[in-house]
Formats: sequence, structure tokens, C-alpha cells
Amino acid sequence: MSRHVTGIGGLFFRSDDHKALARWYNQHFGITDEENGPTVFSPFKRDTDYFGNDKQQFMLNLRVQDLDGLLKKLEAEGVRIDPKRMDEDYGRFAWVYDPEGNKDRIVGTEIMERLHRIFANRNPGLKSFLDRHGIKHKHEVSIVGETVFLLIPESDGNWPKLAKYMASDDDLTHTVELQFSKEDIRNSEYCELGSTRHFGFPQPEDDYQQITYDPVMGCRTCGIGLMQVAPFRFRKTPTQRHSHLLQLNWVFDEFFVSERTRADLESSILTGFRFEPAVLHKSGQPLNDWHQMRIDGRVPGVVDTSAFVKESCATCGKSKFNHPTDQPIHIQLNRSDLPDIAKTSEWFGSGGSAWQSILVSKNFVDLVLSENWRGISLAPVRITADHNR
Ligand SMILES: [Zn+2]
Repeated sequence: MSRHVTGIGGLFFRSDDHKALARWYNQHFGITDEENGPTVFSPFKRDTDYFGNDKQQFMLNLRVQDLDGLLKKLEAEGVRIDPKRMDEDYGRFAWVYDPEGNKDRIVGTEIMERLHRIFANRNPGLKSFLDRHGIKHKHEVSIVGETVFLLIPESDGNWPKLAKYMASDDDLTHTVELQFSKEDIRNSEYCELGSTRHFGFPQPEDDYQQITYDPVMGCRTCGIGLMQVAPFRFRKTPTQRHSHLLQLNWVFDEFFVSERTRADLESSILTGFRFEPAVLHKSGQPLNDWHQMRIDGRVPGVVDTSAFVKESCATCGKSKFNHPTDQPIHIQLNRSDLPDIAKTSEWFGSGGSAWQSILVSKNFVDLVLSENWRGISLAPVRITADHNR
């Protein structure tokens, strides 16, 4: 893909004390002389009153991951913040002033939608509520009674009253999922990688763990710390010729890539992976056209698990967390040299299964988007603090 300019990497402007101002931007925003992501370039009329004062020649646009979090921090640090806010489908905006009265625009690119998936069987109350308020839904009548199904985003005008109704009905359960904008994904420093394509179960289904993982390392009760020592075994060769990447059912933290994807990755500058064969269970022969992408790197930071439901194992005493579906994960990075793909140190899951989340860098996401990879999901991760970077 040919890439034209995606933004302005830096901005120069006049100031009365350039050294003090540089220190100020470094102290509050962590800006050094490095590029800080794509920037919007937009000329304004000479007599615009959009800027902080008449003397101000430029307005600095800062893209951030967590607008509300940053504003809270700046407020605590005594930075002057304009009370005005703007919410657009391409971002959320706020304005702050530096010590010389220059107004800066901060763009939050965390545009995401919370979707509520509601499924109810034999619940005439819900059905009549939906009908009464004209809320679109599907319904089906069968021998198990009437079933109602709907998927509604929180931005829907009907959501507040439906939420209120749901709170009053104890029998009603639903799930929440996140939908991120392309813009959010593209602007995120790191995303969690997932697969939307699954191909069968690891073989042999009843004791693949015994064969695939080290017999001593890790815990057989909860799955935490299991270390792969042998290739995964497939029942058949995957037929998803158009997928770039897929997973086996039950195994949430290992990916298999097609020959074409492997070639793309190997000719890229990306780091953090190597390829090993996966085999056919019956013959023990390596699969044609598919390889396991082994991920050896660990995320150099800590996932904020304080709000997650925790499960502790009675056998090994270690803990894993229920991965949230209704909020992005937050990570405190310690350093910037994360490989382009890496596993978290934290374990997620419940019951006998445990898995680590896979993080991919912006460069990895760029490749995925430019090559239009199929079979994957990307969920932006919020970086909460990076003091040492
Ligand atoms: Zn355990």
C-alpha cells in the first residue's frame, strides 16, 4: 500500500520562553521531540477567535487514548481547562491552556459503542414493552414459547428507558459487547488480538493437554502456566482458504496462520513471533499451508485487574480473571520496547481453562488493516500510565 502523509509529526510555534514551555509540554503530556501519531492539519481564517488569544498563531492538536482520564489528571495538576466539550463521531474534544495562554485542543479517539445483546424466552412483559415503545426486535414462536431477541447500542434514544425496564425485571439477563471504530483501532498504541474463525478442536479431544503441554510446568486444574512442548494436532487441514488467521476451539491464546500470512509477516519488520508446524493428528504430518504463530514475548507492563472478577485455584493458589466484555482493558506500560506481538503476564478464563491476552502494536495493526486480513478481531487497549517512557 502506498502511504501518503498521514499527519503532521510536529508543530513549531513562537513562545516567550521556549525552554520553559518545552519542559511544560514534556511534564504534562510527555511530549518530546518524537512524533506523537497522526495529526490533523487544518488552516483557519486569520481573524479566527477559535484560538486562545490574538497572539496565538497555531493551535496544537493532541491525540490521546483516554480523554477523561487525562483531563482528571490535568485538573489535579492545576492546568487550566476550558469547560467546553465536543462529541463528534470522529472523536471527542476538549481544550486546555498552557501557561502563556495558548489554547490546545485535545482529541480523544476512544470512539466505541457499548452494545447490549438481549435474549428472552417467555417474557411477555418485555415483548409488550418493546412493542409499546416501538423498539425494533426479532421474535419467534416455537414449542418452547415466544423468544425475543435484540441488539441495541447505548447511543440509541430508546436505550435509557429500556435499561430502566431491564433493571426492574430480575429474570432478564443480557450480555454487553464493545464495538470499536476503525479510527479508534487505527489510533491505538496497542490492541488485543482475537480470532473470529475457529477450526475444530485440538486432538485428541479428551487429552490434548497431556500431549501438547509440559507435564510438570503449570497447573492441570486451572490451566495457569501450562507450557507448550509439542505441536497442536488438527483433525483435518483447515479449509478456510480465505482466512489469514484462525484458532482452535478451547485454545484462546494460540493462533494459526496461512502460508500467505506467514510470508507477509516474515517479510515485514514486525517482531515477537516465529513459526512452527501444526500437525494432522492421524498421520502426524505437518499441515500444508498452515503454521502455528508462536508468541514468545511478554507484555512489559501490568493489566489493571482491580475491577475484574478473580478466580483462585485451590490446587496451585494462582489467580486468573474473567476478561471483561463491556470495557477495554487498561495497561500500565513500563517501557516502550514491546515486541509487535506479545502475551500478557496475567491469566484470564474460568474453570479448567486459562489463557493470556495477546497484544499487538500499531505497526502490526497497520499491516492487518492494509492487507485487509480476514478472521481477526482487534480491541484497543487503553494505556493508563507510562511514566518511564
Ligand atoms: Zn491451578
